[in-house]
Amino acid sequence: MSKTHLISTKRLSLVILAISAAMASTLLFGCTDTADKRGEAGKAVQAEPQQIEVEPVRDCPKPTNDEDEVGADTRERPVRTDAEADASEASDAESTAVPVIAITEDFRESFDHGPKGAEYQKYIVLHDTEGKSDAASVIDWWDSNGNLVAAHFIVNKDGSIWQCVPLDRIAHHAGYGDTGHNEQYSISEDGRDDMKGSSPIGGAFADYGMNGSSIGIEMVHVSGEDDYPEAQLDALDALIAYIDDYYGFESEIIDHKAWRSGNSDTSPEFADFLQSYQTKRKHA
Ligand SMILES: [Zn+2]
Repeated sequence: MSKTHLISTKRLSLVILAISAAMASTLLFGCTDTADKRGEAGKAVQAEPQQIEVEPVRDCPKPTNDEDEVGADTRERPVRTDAEADASEASDAESTAVPVIAITEDFRESFDHGPKGAEYQKYIVLHDTEGKSDAASVIDWWDSNGNLVAAHFIVNKDGSIWQCVPLDRIAHHAGYGDTGHNEQYSISEDGRDDMKGSSPIGGAFADYGMNGSSIGIEMVHVSGEDDYPEAQLDALDALIAYIDDYYGFESEIIDHKAWRSGNSDTSPEFADFLQSYQTKRKHA
């Protein structure tokens, strides 16, 4: 079941002013569902923060009247404590502007394809959902279609973030890549990935190592039809910072079509953002 975490991406945010269960409830919700027949999840998650941050919660989406309300566990997650982070923050007068993000966890057993320790983490692979459904609906669709495919995270257009695979587990989001890409990306299929549900797709796409070496992020987006709203891009900025902080290093950012040529995602309208993420780790 899902729950919501308030997650700080910088160590100084660990300053806690007070503990209260009565303040700053966060409501995350599922939005819409359309032509791709993904079932409406209609899921509302109410968070009851146990700790109050120095900085305000960044995203507080509007509540819905959905019925499937789930009690959520909101807490601050421990962050990196190395000297590098200390030095960086000590020299950064703006570090009081602590980014805080809310992530709704909805882990599903069918998405889990084996362990992925930090020593195997190398890439963040960006995708588009190519559907208008919100994250909650996408997760339900993934879980029901029998393909065993999922990305770790989905970023909604309103900036809300859902996670359905833990960071230390393999998700099937990248699949087979161009023959030769295992070598090009310095990765391999080493047996950690159970490869359940994966079927070879031909000689030109023989390599299968990316899932075991990456985190997948889907953005709700339809190529050629949508823009990427600022709230969604801001959320992606914060999510990448969170992943960097979790591992203590910066994973290389690529998109899915870099791994498998001919793939649609990410869309052409994301090209400038992708370049910015690859150089600055932010969309702008
Ligand atoms: Zn993709």
